[in-house]
Amino acid sequence: MTTTRFAPSPTGYIHVGNLRTALMNYLIARKAGGTFILRIDDTDPERSKEEYVDAIKQDMEWLGLHWDKVERQSERLDRYAEAADKLREMGRFYEAFETPTELDLKRKKQLNMGKPPVYDRAALNLSDAEKEALRAERGNGVWRFKLDHERIEWTDGILGDISIDASSVSDPVLIRGDGQVLYTIASVVDDTEMGVTDVVRGSDHVTNTATQIQIIEALGGTCPRFAHHSLLTGPQGEALSKRLGTLALRDLREQGVQPMALLSLMARLGSSDPVELRSDMAELIEGFDIHRFGAAPTKFDVQDLFPLTARHLQSLPLADVADAVADAGVPAELAEPFWAMARENITTLADLKGWWELCRDGAEPLIDEEDREFIAAAVALLPEGPFNGETWGEWTKAVKEATGRKGKGLFMPLRKALTGMERGPEMASLLPLLQVIRARG
Ligand code: GLU
Repeated sequence: MTTTRFAPSPTGYIHVGNLRTALMNYLIARKAGGTFILRIDDTDPERSKEEYVDAIKQDMEWLGLHWDKVERQSERLDRYAEAADKLREMGRFYEAFETPTELDLKRKKQLNMGKPPVYDRAALNLSDAEKEALRAERGNGVWRFKLDHERIEWTDGILGDISIDASSVSDPVLIRGDGQVLYTIASVVDDTEMGVTDVVRGSDHVTNTATQIQIIEALGGTCPRFAHHSLLTGPQGEALSKRLGTLALRDLREQGVQPMALLSLMARLGSSDPVELRSDMAELIEGFDIHRFGAAPTKFDVQDLFPLTARHLQSLPLADVADAVADAGVPAELAEPFWAMARENITTLADLKGWWELCRDGAEPLIDEEDREFIAAAVALLPEGPFNGETWGEWTKAVKEATGRKGKGLFMPLRKALTGMERGPEMASLLPLLQVIRARG
C-alpha cells in the first residue's frame, strides 16, 4: 500500500517551500488511496518547539491536508539506538573524534589540492588505546556510517536516473558526541518501519538519499521510491531561502490567500502542466502527476496567489463565505445580494469591508463641474423605494429621456456621484444596497 510522509522539523513555521513537499506527498498518497503520515522530526531538543508542532498542524488543517497518523521522532529514540547498535555490530559504524576546526582544516587542504572535501576516514585507523585517550580528552566521539565505495543508483521520480559515487561523499555522522541521534538515521528507521513507499523532498536532500539508500540496505530494509523536487526561487530566479521566512503559510493566510488558490498553484508550479484553479481537493488529486515536474529551479511569485484567490472567491456561494460577510458588518437580510454584488470585485475577503462601508455610509460624491446640473436632474428622478435589481435600469432610462445623455456620458457621472469611484461593481446590483439612497428613497 502506498504510504508517504511529510516530515517537517518543528523549528519554525512552515513556508511555501515546505508546502510543495507536503502537498506532493499528500497527493501521491490520496491518489493511490494510501496513507499520509505527518512525521514530526524533533530529534533536536534544543531547536524543536511545541508551538511549532501546533502551528504546523494548524497550517495543514487550514489547507485541508489531513493526515492519517502523526509520528514523533522524539518518541522513537530507542528504535534509532537499536539500529545504531546493529550498524555497530556489522562494522558499518565508527567513532570519530575530529573537532569542527580540524575537519574544516582538512576540507580546506583538500580543496587547495583540487580534491573533493570528503572525510578522509582517519578515525578508522585509531587503535583502541588512541580512542580511549581521545575520549578522555575530548569526550565521546561522533558516530559515522561507513559507506561502501561503490556507485549508488536510483531512478528518481523527478530527476530520472541518478548515479552517485559513494567515495565522493563523506561518511555521514548519524549520532553526535552528546548522543543526539541525527535525522539521517532516524528518517531511515522510520521510513523502513512505517512502510513508507514514496519519499518526495527537496533536491537539497539528493546526497542524503544516496547515503540513506546504503543505510536502508545495511539494515535490511526496502528502499522507497524517491523523488526530489527543485528548489523554489523568487520571480527573477533569485534564491528564496532568505525570504522564505516571509512566505510562511500563516502570513499568506493573514494576507487573505485562499487555500484552494495556494494549493492549485503549488500542485502545478514547476511542472509541464499549466496552473489551473481547482475547485476542490478531489480535482487536485485527479490532476496531479509527479512525473510531470522538472528539475529546473521553480520560480515562485507570491503575487500569483491573488488573482487565483479572487477567481476562487468569485466561484463561491454565500454559504461558503457567510462568516466573512457577517464579519464585514453586513446584516443577514442583505447578505445574499451583497455577496452577489461584491464577489466580482474583491481580491481577498478583507475587501468586503470596504464595499460594505460604501453601501452603509455612501461615498464622497465625485462630480465634475460640467455634470452638476445633470446630477441634480438625475437625483430629482430617483424612483421611490423599495429598490430592487430593476431600479437602476428604470432610473437611468428616465434620466436618459429627460437629459438626452446616453452611454458613458450617462452612466459614468452617476457611478462617480454614487460611489466616488470610476470603477466598481455593477450599478444595478449596487444601487439597491446603498443604504443612504434607500433611506432617502
Ligand atoms: N526533517 C527533514 C527536513 O525537513 C525531512 C526531510 C525528509 O523528507 O526526509 O528537511
